Amino acid sequence: MAKKQKIVVAGVTHWAQPLGYLASAWERFKRGPTPPCPLCDERFVDGDVTLLLINNYKIFPNVSIHRDCAGPDGLDEDTVNQVHCSYVKAKKMYEEATKIWFRLH
Ligand SMILES: [Zn+2]
Repeated sequence: MAKKQKIVVAGVTHWAQPLGYLASAWERFKRGPTPPCPLCDERFVDGDVTLLLINNYKIFPNVSIHRDCAGPDGLDEDTVNQVHCSYVKAKKMYEEATKIWFRLH
């Protein structure tokens, strides 16, 4: 479980680093509530077992997900695709929500 996993999806290498989530550290240094897991939308709390997904920003930025929200074997293609969908949706919502103030002329 504590081992780093690696998978190639659509020609891009993804890694998953298992971590214990320290919500108190996030709140202390970032001065805000913890972010939610992109797969279940629940905010992380102290002691959550998470995977930090990394693909060198080729598909989406580094992001934590709950270990239990990943596939039974941890990092798999379906998990990567679900996180990618969540990122695309969030990016679209952000662009829609901000274009009234920050549109390009
Ligand atoms: Zn989750």
